Amino acid sequence: MTPKSQKWMQLPRSIAIGHGTIADTACMCAELKLDRRALIVTGRKTRKIAGESVSDILESDGFATDIAIVTNADQENIDSVTGTAENASFLIGVGGGTVIDVAKLASTQLDIPFLSVPTTASHDGIASMRASIARDGDTVSVPAQAPLGIIADTAIIARAPYRFLASGCGDLISNYTAVMDWQLAQRLRNVPYSEYAAALSQMTAQIVMDAADMIKPELEESVRLVLKALVSSGVAMSIAGSSRPASGSEHKFSHALDRIAPEPALHGEQCGVGTIMIMYLHGGNWQQIRDALRMIGAPVTARELGIPDQYIIEALVRAAEIRPERYTILGTGLTRDAAENVARITGVVG
Ligand SMILES: [Zn+2]
Repeated sequence: MTPKSQKWMQLPRSIAIGHGTIADTACMCAELKLDRRALIVTGRKTRKIAGESVSDILESDGFATDIAIVTNADQENIDSVTGTAENASFLIGVGGGTVIDVAKLASTQLDIPFLSVPTTASHDGIASMRASIARDGDTVSVPAQAPLGIIADTAIIARAPYRFLASGCGDLISNYTAVMDWQLAQRLRNVPYSEYAAALSQMTAQIVMDAADMIKPELEESVRLVLKALVSSGVAMSIAGSSRPASGSEHKFSHALDRIAPEPALHGEQCGVGTIMIMYLHGGNWQQIRDALRMIGAPVTARELGIPDQYIIEALVRAAEIRPERYTILGTGLTRDAAENVARITGVVG
């Protein structure tokens, strides 16, 4: 059923972040009063990393489990999960962004709860009520249910390549420009705005910026800090009832790159570079954003993203075409000259 009220916030109910929290999976399921039939949605690699452990932990506590393997975030994979979920009373997504998105959308379609067990901390989808899915050769962000519970085991996530964690930081730092775009849209287009959501979203970006020198490879404390921020960012979106607090023109730039770049980089890496340039357009302190990302070890140039300069310019020019109803500093679009200027002045292209 669709709620009639506009002010409906859907938040995760239980959240466990820390070393070895995966061992508490059965405990959380019991606390959430979930029926004892789980379908574990996982990837080929993440099955070995954590999927099988989750299955063993649940089975030893009297749960019946099945495993569904996901290869891509598309309708075919969602259909295959819903097809195998006949006997399941809830889903557990154990893996990276693709797996979590498919589990989120499949459980929304099945109208059963879903738990999020991320194996990387690369973006804020682990806690949000939106999912990215490939459709007609494009990646679109669609509404879904928020996870009922989140189990983020820092010991597991710390073993993932550091690039993913740095990418998560890029996605978080992008909250700055997302909120600026939101405020601009509120002033110019009178779009609904939430001070609480905006404040929480800005605070998560600030915490990551302030801790930039403490975010390092192979440091579980870094993972914990980033995970807490990613969950808070998801909660900010839940409070707003939209992705506005965490997705503005820097996200449009990243989505445009996904469309046109021969080999796009990670979502959060692209959003981080986008944030540098969009902060320049807003007249803000873009150098501070760049320096924090650099200190974290996230890409700050086209070369570091592994994307040739011309695609960066093209994505800036075309970014306004993405979700055009979402008003941002890009307005109706940058001219090519303006796009070249911002990319060159901020040092993103050489
Ligand atoms: Zn994002």
